[in-house]
Amino acid sequence: MEADVGNEQAFEDPTVNLLNDMVAELTGKEAAVYLPSGTMCNEIAFRVHCRQGDEIILDKTSHPLHWEAGGPAALSGAMCRPVEGIRGVFTAAQVHEFVRPKNKLMPRSALVSIENTAGGGGGTVWPIERVTEVAGAARAHNLAVHMDGARLLNAVVASGTPASAYGNLVDSLWIDLSKGLGCPVGAVLAGSKEFIAEAWRFKHQFGGAMRQAGIIAAAGVYALRHNIERLAEDHDNAKLLAEGLAQIKGIEIDPRAVETNIVFFGVSGTGLSTTDFSARLLSEHGIRIGAASPRAMRALTHLDVSRANIETTLRAIEKLTAQASQLA
Ligand SMILES: *Cc1c(COP(=O)(O)O)cnc(C)c1O
Repeated sequence: MEADVGNEQAFEDPTVNLLNDMVAELTGKEAAVYLPSGTMCNEIAFRVHCRQGDEIILDKTSHPLHWEAGGPAALSGAMCRPVEGIRGVFTAAQVHEFVRPKNKLMPRSALVSIENTAGGGGGTVWPIERVTEVAGAARAHNLAVHMDGARLLNAVVASGTPASAYGNLVDSLWIDLSKGLGCPVGAVLAGSKEFIAEAWRFKHQFGGAMRQAGIIAAAGVYALRHNIERLAEDHDNAKLLAEGLAQIKGIEIDPRAVETNIVFFGVSGTGLSTTDFSARLLSEHGIRIGAASPRAMRALTHLDVSRANIETTLRAIEKLTAQASQLA
C-alpha cells in the first residue's frame, strides 16, 4: 500500500524499476520487463523470437502448447513442434532431429523453448548440464533459446543451481510471481537490452503496459526478498504427500518422481474417476486437488499449504478411498 509509484510506461515507477532490476540480476540478464502474467511472458518472447511460419520446438507437455489458448499461432503465427520428452525434459539429440533442414517447403525452426520446472511433466527440474546440451544444439542451428520459468525458482531451490546459471544459457527467461512466490499478480521477463526493448513494443501492442503498477510490483519485491528459500518447505510437503499417498490402497504414485511442488497420482484403483475423486475431496473435505486428466490427479503445494494440511489431506484421502472401496 505504501509503494512508491509512477508511470511504468515511461519507466517512472520506482517500484517496478526495482523489481525489474532485481529479476535481471537474479537471472544474470541485462534487463527485464514486468508483465501482468506468465502467459504474456511466453507470448511476447515468442513474438520477439519468431516470424510467421516459424516453428518452436518444445516438449509435448509444455504450457504454451496446451494452456495458452493457441497463443503462439494466434499472436505470432508460429507453429509448435512437440518433442516426446521424459517428464517434460528432452535431449540435444531430439533437438538435432527436430530442427528442419533449410528447405523452402518447410516451416523454419526458430526457437527451442525449455520449461523449467516442467509443470506438465510433474515439476521436473532441468539439470543445468541438460540445458547446456540442448541450448548448444539449438545454437548449432542458429536457433534462439527461451526458458519458461513459471517455476524456475523451484528448480533453483531444488537443484542448488543459481537462476543466473540457467540465464546464461538462454536468450530469454521469466519467473512467475503469482505461483509459489505468493504474489497476487505478475511475472517478469528477462533478456538482453535489445530483447527487452523489442519485448516492450509487444507489451504495448498486447495491452500489457500499465501505469502505477508499483502498487502490485511491490508484492514481487517482497516475494523475492522473503519467499524464495521457503520454496524448500513446499518441496518437503510435496514429498510428504507423495510418500503418504504411496501407502494408501488404490492410489498409484511413484514418490521418487516428485522433485519439487507438483504431485501427480492415479486413482483408478479406488473405483472413482479423477473428476469424481476431485469433486468429493472438495465437497466432503474442502480440499482442492484437480483432475489433470482421466488418469491423473494433480496436487500442488505452495505457501498457503502447511505440513498439517498435508496430514489432514492424507487422512481425507484414506477415508475417501476406504468409502469408495466399500461401495465397489
Ligand atoms: C502458470 C504457467 C504459465 C502461465 O503463467 P500465468 O501467470 O498463469 O499466465 C506458463 N508456463 C508454465 C509452465 C506455467 O506453469
